[in-house]
Formats: sequence, structure tokens, C-alpha cells
Amino acid sequence: MRILAVASEIYPLLKTGGLGDVVGALPLALQQIGGASPAVEVTTMVPGYPAIMAALTDAIPIHQFDELFGGPATILQASADSLDLLVVDAPHLYARAGNPYLGADGREWADNGMRFAALGAAAAAVGRGIVPGLTFDIVHAHDWQAAMALVYLHFHNGPRPATVLTIHNLAFQGRYPAALFPRLGLPASAFGLNGLEFHGDVNFLKGGLAYADRITTVSPGYAREITGEEKGMGLDGLLRHRGDVLSGILNGIDDTVWNPATDPLLPARYSRGKLAKRAEDKLALQKRMGLEESPDALLIGVISRLTSQKGLDMLLDQLDAMVGDGMQLALLGSGEPDLEQAFVSAAEWHLGSVGCIIGYDETLAHLIQAGSDALLVPSRFEPCGLTQLYALRYGSVPVVSRVGGLADSVIDANEAALAAGVATGIQFWPATPEALQVALDRLQNLWRDKPAWAQVQRNGMAADVSWRRPANQYVSLYRSLLAAQP
Ligand code: ADP
Repeated sequence: MRILAVASEIYPLLKTGGLGDVVGALPLALQQIGGASPAVEVTTMVPGYPAIMAALTDAIPIHQFDELFGGPATILQASADSLDLLVVDAPHLYARAGNPYLGADGREWADNGMRFAALGAAAAAVGRGIVPGLTFDIVHAHDWQAAMALVYLHFHNGPRPATVLTIHNLAFQGRYPAALFPRLGLPASAFGLNGLEFHGDVNFLKGGLAYADRITTVSPGYAREITGEEKGMGLDGLLRHRGDVLSGILNGIDDTVWNPATDPLLPARYSRGKLAKRAEDKLALQKRMGLEESPDALLIGVISRLTSQKGLDMLLDQLDAMVGDGMQLALLGSGEPDLEQAFVSAAEWHLGSVGCIIGYDETLAHLIQAGSDALLVPSRFEPCGLTQLYALRYGSVPVVSRVGGLADSVIDANEAALAAGVATGIQFWPATPEALQVALDRLQNLWRDKPAWAQVQRNGMAADVSWRRPANQYVSLYRSLLAAQP
């Protein structure tokens, strides 16, 4: 089975969030299922951003577009870090430094509609066999940046591969003024209530959702939530309509990159049986973040985009109480300037108890997972969430709001779960500062009960958060999709 995955990010070449992690890890996980004769082979098409172009080895041009949304483009076949890639080398669209979606002023690039329509058009062209000898059974598009591939395939006359769309976050939809539509090269019927049109605008994700053969999202909980008005982001009606082809598959994590026993980014490595070694990582983290070097202080880590989705404004409300209770905070994140500034000020105000680093730092993210006692993810909505999965693996007790993939991946340490020996973290609901406070009180009580705490840590570390189960679920989905083809 040959899959053409289409995405705007792929770890380790380029990542701004969980999307990149998943797109980077899934191909290998799928390949490993079949052993020597893999059941599934994945080639991933990505835009030729500078970070991607710089990482390519043995790139071969396999197709030339004389004109692709404003300039010539070449499809390169290449590999990088064991990934099989097709790269859309279109300098007029992608050869820009910095964030893939935003200019230096922090605003979306004005031509993002064209940039990601181009990715979709190129993927659809390859999917329908424009390159001799290169064929695919399934085109699997990830998120709005790739969704147009499915729209172009739908409106292509003639045979086409089967299609899957995975939603990593319904909040990002790729919505543009209707003036973009005539430039997309699609028939007028594509801009209708059952297609790309959304309140008078063009909506790329909606187009993908309308025309995909199968739709998945990254946890069963989120798959249920997005068919309701509260978390449906305006697309719940369409998602209910497509409910028979919608399912949730919880993400896994790359357990070779995220393994505390072998992690080269940690000062001290440890395993489930050698938890005492974590003390060295905690000390290193306290040093790095300017925190008091106290082994007994309950140290809470946060690694996050700083946006309202992630609920960290609630944490700001609780900081005084937390510090008053003797807890410490180590926060790494970037995002909305107001939130960044608020955490920087909090760190100055609570010197030695609150440490805050604004920016993106993969090495520090690993140290926070290994050196924190608990990891806080108080999201208002969360399609899957990866940081709580890394936390489970690293023995940092996750404290999460009960939404989407957070609810699906953490078992609350209530009395029954503690007694049964299955608890892995703490859940709270609703996503309010008051409920967060209750969760932090429960956390501190657990922290005081050292045997119970260690048991929760060990349960989390034993949980299977690898790609094995989800990869098998994707294979089943692909198989059932192909079996259903005429
Ligand atoms: P989302 O995709 O919504 O941002 P996820 O929890 O699914 O949230 O994935 C976030 C990923 O990005 C994780 O791998 C996390 O470690 C990483 N990450 C987020 N912020 C930072 C940061 N400031 N520095 C390093 N890694 C970060």
C-alpha cells in the first residue's frame, strides 16, 4: 500500500507544534508494522521551506510546473533523516526565513491562501499520476494547509486515489476572502454550501472535510467533541453530516526521541526502576531556570504555545497561591505577547520560585520533562496534546483539563484508580482557575504521599504511548478504505 502524505511540517526538519511531530513519526511507525516487507510505505510531500531545502540529500527533480500560483516550481524527490519526501520547490511561495506561516511582523503572510493552494494542487497532481511511474493508493492530507489536495482531487475528472484528511486542530482552518476563489482554478460548483464556501469566505479545511473519503482526528474524545457546537468551531454541522466517516486515533510519540533512558539531551538518564536519578535533572532544571535548588519543592513544568487554547491565563491567576504553597514553576513557551509579558513579569516578581523562558528550545523541553515533578496542561480544548504523553514517559505527573486527547490519555488519580494501581495523573474540569486550584491542591496532597506519588509516576512510565497501537489503527483504516473503493 502506497500513501502520499501531505503536510506543512515534518519533524525533525520543521516543526511549530504537534502536527510536525506526528507527520515525522507516523511514516516510520507504519513501515515498522510490516517488518521487512512493510504493509504501508509513506512518501510525504512538504513545501520547500529553507529549513527543509537545507536538509535534503540526493534531491532529484521529477516534475516541473511552468507556473504554480505565480511562478515556476519543481517537485523534488529526496530523503532526509530516513524520511521519503517530495518537496515542492517554489521559491516565490516558500523561500522565506522564519516561521512558515507568519512574517517578521507576526502577521500571516498575505499570500498564504496561494501558498497552501499550491501545496494542494501539487499533491493532487502527483496523486493522480502526473509523474510517470509514481503512483499512490491513498492521499492522506494533514490539517488545513494540505486540505486543498482533496478538493483538487475531487474535481479532477478520471481515476484518483482514495483520500483521508486528519484534523490536528480544528481551530486553524485556512479561511480567506472569496476573492481568492477565482484564482484557485476550480469549477464554480466548488464554491458552494457543500464545498469550500463558509460564511461567504473560502475555507480550505471545510473543503477537505466536504470531499475526503475518510476523516480522522487525533483522539477519540476530540472526534466526539467536534461534532458539538461548543468545540465544533463552526464546522460541527458538516462534521455531524460526515459522522459516518469520522473517527479518532490517539497520537503516539516517537519513543526513540523521547526516551529518558537514552535521551542524549539530559544531564542524567533514568528508567522506571531508577527514578532517583531524576533528582539530578531536577537540580539542573532549577539551575537553568533560576529556581531555588530545593529537592523538596514541588516543581511544575509547562511547555506550550502561549495562546488562549492552552489555558495558561488560568495559571497566572493561581501563581500567587502556588508559590505561597511552596511550589515552583518552570515555563517554556512563546506566543501571544501579553501572555509572554505576564509570565516574564511573574518570574521577576516571584524570583527563585517562577522561572520563565520565552522562545522555542527543544533541548530545554526535554530537560523540563525530565526535571519537573509534574507537567501542567490546562487547555480549554486539546485535540490530542503531546506534552502530556512525553510527561507520562518521563515520569512527570501530568495535570490536565478533562478535554479531547488529554482526557483520553491520562487516568485521574482518584481513590478508585489509586486503589486499583492504574492512576497516571490528575484531571480537572471545568477549565477555570478555581478547578485548577483544586487540582493543584490534590497534586500537593499526592506529592506528600511519597509511595503513592512514585506509584503514579511508574504507572505513567509503563503506559504504552508509542506509535504501535495508533499505527495499526491507521493501517486498518487504510485497508478498510481501499476495500470500500469501487
Ligand atoms: P500543539 O500542537 O497544540 O502546540 P502539542 O502538545 O500537540 O500542542 O504539541 C506541542 C509540541 O511542541 C510538543 O512536541 C512540545 O514539546 C513542543 N513545544 C511547544 N512549545 C515549545 C517550546 N516553546 N519549545 C520547545 N518545544 C515546544
